Amino acid sequence: MNAHYRNFKTVVYIPAQIAEAFDEDKLRYDYEFIEKYIGLDKVYLETHRGDCDVEDAQLKMIKDYLESKGVIVSGGITTTLDDFDGAEKGKRRLFGTLCYTDPAMRDRIKEISERAASIFDEVILDDFYFTNCTCERCIKEKGDRDWVTFRRELMKDVSANLIVGPAKAVNPKVKMVIKYPNWRESYHFAGYVPEIQDEIFDATYIGTETRSPAYTDQHLPEYLSYSLARFMDNAWPGRCGGGWFDTYQCYSIDRYLEQAYLTAFAGMKEMMHFMWSDLIDNPFSCAMGLQLSKIDKMLDGAGSPKGIPVYIPHAASGENHLEMRLGMLGMPMEPTPVFPAGERKILLTESALGDEDVVSKLVKFVEEGGDAVVTSGFLREAGDDLRKAGLTEARLTGRRYAVTRYDITGDFAGYITDRDPILFPELVHGNNDSWSLLNGGDGDLHCSLFLRSTYGKGRLYIMAVPDNDADLYKLPKSAVDVIKRALLTEKNDTYVSGRDMSMFTYEDGSMIMYRYIKGEVKPERITIHTTKEVSALIEETSGRKFPVRKVEFMEDFEKATEYVAEAVIVPGIMYKCRWE
Ligand SMILES: [Zn+2]
Repeated sequence: MNAHYRNFKTVVYIPAQIAEAFDEDKLRYDYEFIEKYIGLDKVYLETHRGDCDVEDAQLKMIKDYLESKGVIVSGGITTTLDDFDGAEKGKRRLFGTLCYTDPAMRDRIKEISERAASIFDEVILDDFYFTNCTCERCIKEKGDRDWVTFRRELMKDVSANLIVGPAKAVNPKVKMVIKYPNWRESYHFAGYVPEIQDEIFDATYIGTETRSPAYTDQHLPEYLSYSLARFMDNAWPGRCGGGWFDTYQCYSIDRYLEQAYLTAFAGMKEMMHFMWSDLIDNPFSCAMGLQLSKIDKMLDGAGSPKGIPVYIPHAASGENHLEMRLGMLGMPMEPTPVFPAGERKILLTESALGDEDVVSKLVKFVEEGGDAVVTSGFLREAGDDLRKAGLTEARLTGRRYAVTRYDITGDFAGYITDRDPILFPELVHGNNDSWSLLNGGDGDLHCSLFLRSTYGKGRLYIMAVPDNDADLYKLPKSAVDVIKRALLTEKNDTYVSGRDMSMFTYEDGSMIMYRYIKGEVKPERITIHTTKEVSALIEETSGRKFPVRKVEFMEDFEKATEYVAEAVIVPGIMYKCRWE
């Protein structure tokens, strides 16, 4: 078979309508284009989408041709149906997704799954495998349950008894793969239940299509392409097969490519390009192969990605995407649906409250010597429980104020003044019961933006989050660095200070730095920090060596030491570095 890259396969999705329209000449032209610019290892060839079922002979023609070129051919299904005879009419189904209580639709989807499994040994479901149906039949079957509970049970039944069970009955070898969409925070509302489906499906796949953060429906931070892939890899260890991105609403070639960079940085073994015909004669494709080759080299020997553990239970929402914002401030993040009890330091956002036992887990974690950073959203919802447990006396007043001045309390004169106002919640605390490491003020008022309490052997930090969490990007670098430093450990000893920057860190000690193409595109001087004693920073691609200076400062009444390198970096360029 073809193997264009060492660290991942390049994969392209062929939707049913595209497959149906191929003739041999078109298929050859397209294949040669994709092979030339991206390099094609594998396709998922769809049998069904909407009102389209591709005929056996056509599937065979495509499969035979691509296999003759050494391409792996697996199957795909999009679980959408147009209205058809026998199905109940007049349901307000979004995008043609199914009413899974309708007997005729249940029969149809079972047939579709059986047919795909009879042709392919691996079948993936595109991410229309959700349900928002609120028809009268669904209301009746729901009964007294809420929609989340009803859909959880419904989709467990559908997954086992209409999709995977029937497919395996037809072809016991078939590997059934469920792709989850890029909207993790809403899965439970629409019947996506990865915590249940992991026992039914063989593998998963994740949507990393972030597109334009500001100008698309979902307003997804760029970092989602990395952090959601990490989340799924931690949710289904060893069974998250790939990341999936597309060309839609990217508006620039860099934004398109960034999705692929971050998917690969997250360690995804398949890079799914959605979809076949969007790639053809598209300049976006022309740069892809070149960039994937560079990434492939960077990932050689790097091992698994690592970062600061962020606890995001399944079926949870609240302060959605906040950890991704932090990931774009130069802190490597590692979201996981398993409470990271064995770690030294963890971050909890409001989403952590999806676990109803989270406060007792947190108390135990801190008491035994862990450090936890919780956000103001977490405090807002769980403040009473935290105060009752004795973890903090701090509270949010409910008032907000505009911060124009920052004070890093550890360096005594670290005032940063005259900044554009950012609205923060007012966090009040017992003076000298807890200690503020970062204050935010305006006029004669200031309050804590980052507060530290102690409990048992550990510490609890409370981080104030601005009303508009994207304002985090506008904070002074040195103010954000206070938060980053609280999360450093021996395992996660490095961070970068710079705007719109991410740092990806790996088991072998290497790091990849990337500055997103956002706003004004120009070089920027950044600082890279570590608590490890090092003598230089090596940029591997160019072989350049950057000197390191030792910096000593006071923080939280203790002397702290960092080793700091400076570099000028250009947005859109990937830099692979290591400390020496
Ligand atoms: Zn329904």
